[in-house]
Amino acid sequence: MTVGREEHLWIPESDLDGMSVDTLAVRAGQVRTGQLEHSDAIFPTSSFVYGSAAQAAARFGGEEPGNIYSRFTNPTVQGFEARIAAMEGGEKAVATASGMAAILSTCMALLQSGDHVICSRGVFGTTNVLFQKYMARFGVETTFVSLTDADGWEAAVRPETRMLFIETPSNPLCEIADMDALSALARANDALFVVDNCFCTPVLQRPLEQGADLVIHSATKYLDGQGRCVGGVVVGPARYLDEIYGFLRSAGPTMSPFNAWVFQKGLETLPIRMRAHCNNALELANWLESQPSVEKVFYAGLESHPQHQLAKKQQDGFGGIVSFLVKGGREEAWRFIDATRMISITANLGDVKTTVTHPATTTHGRLSPEDKDKADITENLIRLSVGIEAIDDLKTDLTRGFQALKD
Ligand SMILES: *Cc1c(COP(=O)(O)O)cnc(C)c1O
Repeated sequence: MTVGREEHLWIPESDLDGMSVDTLAVRAGQVRTGQLEHSDAIFPTSSFVYGSAAQAAARFGGEEPGNIYSRFTNPTVQGFEARIAAMEGGEKAVATASGMAAILSTCMALLQSGDHVICSRGVFGTTNVLFQKYMARFGVETTFVSLTDADGWEAAVRPETRMLFIETPSNPLCEIADMDALSALARANDALFVVDNCFCTPVLQRPLEQGADLVIHSATKYLDGQGRCVGGVVVGPARYLDEIYGFLRSAGPTMSPFNAWVFQKGLETLPIRMRAHCNNALELANWLESQPSVEKVFYAGLESHPQHQLAKKQQDGFGGIVSFLVKGGREEAWRFIDATRMISITANLGDVKTTVTHPATTTHGRLSPEDKDKADITENLIRLSVGIEAIDDLKTDLTRGFQALKD
């Protein structure tokens, strides 16, 4: 029997085995319709119809697979989920309305009252609030430990510890977690090891291959890459993802088909964008280190970074986020930021456009002075999310900031 190409409406999953993340980014998870469109189709529909009452009953009863309602499943959302799952090397993915909805859904589906979480200090500000304020109300207690304090992680473990939650590299100080060590600690204590892989994306780091049980993304950042949509996703084995899907279906923070379509297109250019971000960030980090008004630069690609070797081992690149301390305090940091003209002053990150932020008064502004102190979020700290503009134009704009510090 000959099988014509036209019968392959999409690439069989077995063909995707062993393909590189570059290929998966453009080829995995496409659901073609009978029109044989080349680009991914979009299905902006809230519900689906049935050929008969019997078919409707079979769908609802679960005897026949298929779509019912877009809070449950939607083909565009499934296309995005399949693509990111393939790129992360995970069995399944579940897309959510935002990165925070991905973290909340994971906690709601897999934790219960009385459980204990250990979370790295200096995680995304809202993640901190979610654990400290809201999860605590439902009897889930969280201990925050510095990402690099190996003894601290061991010491924080209790019999009821059910989850270790980290971001690596950390935001904004670019600390690197030893994923081998933390996954071993999680396994020894029967706890889940959850990694927010927002900063590296599967192009630079695949935590599931390094012992993580679940990977979380804010798709809002690099996966979109062009600042258009808010979304999130959780990736991992079916035994956890089915539980998370169940929560999502009941609680409702699902991803819209339009956003899924935008993210699906975003993934296609993710590998080339990440390499451009990495190249620009490394060049800028080295350049910043040589500036007389700079006290310190935080970037794992620098030889001076205390975990440079670990980052090299765990990651295929050092990412696009560079933070640095200017000499002085809040006044100097603000003066530097205000003197730039092209770079966007915005707390968002992971965009093709370079952005600049003052973490102490924006992203980490809600932390208590004590917590800011512990997380080293000082008033003279500036964070850059380095975009893909020409490096010389970025230097020209940042030079305006340094000039303002001299005036
Ligand atoms: C932005 C961000 C989140 C939250 O994602 P939203 O899409 O804004 O809800 C979580 N983790 C990290 C590391 C982030 O940068």
